[in-house]
Amino acid sequence: MNVAEGLAEVRGTITRACRDAGRDPAGVRLVAVSKTFEAEHIMPAVEAGQRVFGENRVQEAKGKWPALKERFPDIELHLIGPLQTNKVREALALFEVIHTVDRESLAATLAKEIARLDHAPPRLLIQVNTGEEPQKAGIAPGEADAFIARCRDEHKLAIEGMMCIPPLDEPVAPHFGLLATIARRNGLRELSMGMSGDYEKAIALGATYVRVGSAIFGAR
Ligand SMILES: *Cc1c(COP(=O)(O)O)cnc(C)c1O
Repeated sequence: MNVAEGLAEVRGTITRACRDAGRDPAGVRLVAVSKTFEAEHIMPAVEAGQRVFGENRVQEAKGKWPALKERFPDIELHLIGPLQTNKVREALALFEVIHTVDRESLAATLAKEIARLDHAPPRLLIQVNTGEEPQKAGIAPGEADAFIARCRDEHKLAIEGMMCIPPLDEPVAPHFGLLATIARRNGLRELSMGMSGDYEKAIALGATYVRVGSAIFGAR
């Protein structure tokens, strides 16, 4: 896989999908999902100007990103995988955006640790389990409004948007549509949805972050 070519192709597809949807391409940010890949495989993307990257494990990210961030201070790291409460402090030291706020105990721990920070807090998105799959993380759609309200009112967290990972074996549009509906009625502007196989559809349905891995970096 040629990473620079993969990245250019994904960028071109995003621009086209925006045009088709009548959207400003500046409103869709590409999160290049670099999980499982070593720094040297990621470098061509950095050299091609990509600055927003996604990782799904705190431990793995801790191993490869601090050195890269030192060289490229404008890199922005997004956590797109589940966050255990005992990893919150490490996550806050590493990630600028966390897409996976999904339960009360995590919201409470984030609030406590964010209060101790001496740097800007991360931007936060709530993960919704739109397919209500038992094995998948995320708040149930029916509980989302109440959870958003608790995050804001009780925990004083500045929630910016919502994220979902639709079930593998279902059409994605109803899931993206549901996420957009929940976000709209709660006044949340960021929608993290769409992966390598479906980011064009996600853009048509309002995605503001698309999380694309294998289409850039190759198969994992
Ligand atoms: C791995 C991953 C992606 C990227 O998936 P691709 O199909 O490789 O684009 C996006 N979102 C999440 C939450 C992931 O874990």
